[in-house]
Amino acid sequence: MKFTYGNLIGGVWRDTPSTFHTMNPARPSQCAGTYALPTTGMVDEAVEAAADAQRAWRKLPAPERCAALARFVDAIEANRERLAHAVTVEQGKTLVESRGEIAKACAESRFMLQHVMTGEGTRHVPALRAGVRNMVLRRPRGVIVAITPWNFPVMTPMRKIAPALGFGNAVIIKASEFTPAAACILGELAAGVLPDGLLQVLHGGPDIGNALVSHPGVHGVTFTGSVGTGKRIVAATASNLAEVSLELGGKNAAVIHDADDLDACLDQVANAALMCTGQRCTAVSRVLVRRELRAQVAQGLAERAGNMRVGNGLDAATQLGPITHRAQLDHVMSAVSKAREEGARVAVGGRRLEIEGCEGGYFFAPTVLDGVRPDSAAAREEIFGPVISIVEYESLDDALNLLNSVEYGLTAAFFSNDAKAIARFVEECETGMLHVNHGTVPDSHMPFGGIKASGVGAYSVGPSAAAFYTTEHAVYLGK
Ligand code: NAD
Repeated sequence: MKFTYGNLIGGVWRDTPSTFHTMNPARPSQCAGTYALPTTGMVDEAVEAAADAQRAWRKLPAPERCAALARFVDAIEANRERLAHAVTVEQGKTLVESRGEIAKACAESRFMLQHVMTGEGTRHVPALRAGVRNMVLRRPRGVIVAITPWNFPVMTPMRKIAPALGFGNAVIIKASEFTPAAACILGELAAGVLPDGLLQVLHGGPDIGNALVSHPGVHGVTFTGSVGTGKRIVAATASNLAEVSLELGGKNAAVIHDADDLDACLDQVANAALMCTGQRCTAVSRVLVRRELRAQVAQGLAERAGNMRVGNGLDAATQLGPITHRAQLDHVMSAVSKAREEGARVAVGGRRLEIEGCEGGYFFAPTVLDGVRPDSAAAREEIFGPVISIVEYESLDDALNLLNSVEYGLTAAFFSNDAKAIARFVEECETGMLHVNHGTVPDSHMPFGGIKASGVGAYSVGPSAAAFYTTEHAVYLGK
């Protein structure tokens, strides 16, 4: 089945003569969907419709808003198979991974709705003047634009939609031009459950994204994607001074310092590195290992990577799907050849794979690069594919220096049974999320975000989201 969608504006799907296509990365000759590109006038219309819808929505008591959103989440759960199929066909991940993504999106959304109900950020403060009551209130910010990437086509939009609407805003989603089907299905499921105009879906790439984020009627921009685009969004929002929350790239490390059970540790690391074909922002991309353990770690990871079944995500036997689009495959291939030039040894993988029945599919063998130099690109730059770079170190000081030497600061894992070493990792690791003795997969009710080049502004999920989705007001209640 092929997806065909216009733009969802004010509750109506709007077509235009200008369209673009998506393809199935497992079989790129197969067109997956056709989508209408909005006109500039439609961007204005969407912002206006969002403002209209938000004026009424913000007046509803939060329990009513959250009850409507809970019904929306119920509808997503009821349509799990339809959504999972859309994710797998355009993004490439396995159906098991797609179903897991949807389950997690629903769990996170429900958590954020509970969170809205706590009235996060509102409080009473002692007053200086007698008889006066001081309060800090938070109000909905207004019209939120959400720009999302292609790796989690349901979870990333929902990570923005649930808090945006829960806190009383309207939201316009511009999904990735590679994977728009899931956002369109979310838009369809909102019909009749949420007021028209509250959740709108526009298509397109950088041009439409830029028109939205710089629009004078927009009050907040929540973005997940690459560092380069994040910087362009910060520059664009200089024109409307919209608040921004950016979740950006990573070069996440697993540090293997010592491990009672090295096999269990390597299972965790391989899983955290390779699931979703390494196209998770929180994927482990470099393994920093104490010199004495390097050979064992390289062999153990190479065995695990070499045993993974790569194929079409729709095939039940597949463990790893293709890379999502051609330019990303080219990027991964050129990162691996540069690593070779810079002295890394390919312990396993390092090449494209042909899969029967999927001619031309963007498959890349799970790859372990051993002997990666700490100053080389494979040790420092985001690859965003099924590639693990192994870098050895001598002392804990070296490990922590290497860990913090990259521009990114999203997540990290540390494997050790030494309490002092763990304490130093927890204190000194420059990332937003830190895991001890397990991989980098986050819980659905913990703050999610990064520092340094991995994030700007409030985290998604948890208390700091209120700081982005609402504005703060100091109220002095006199007699
Ligand atoms: P990308 O930055 O190329 O695109 C992301 C989105 O931004 C797309 O919807 C795109 O159309 C839009 N866009 C592009 N230029 C724009 C502009 N000038 N103005 C407004 N919007 C614009 O990223 P991608 O390739 O889709 O995703 C991969 C990247 O996302 C990786 O770097 C990955 O690490 C990062 N990522 C981060 C997180 C996180 O939570 N930190 C999660 C997932 C992905």
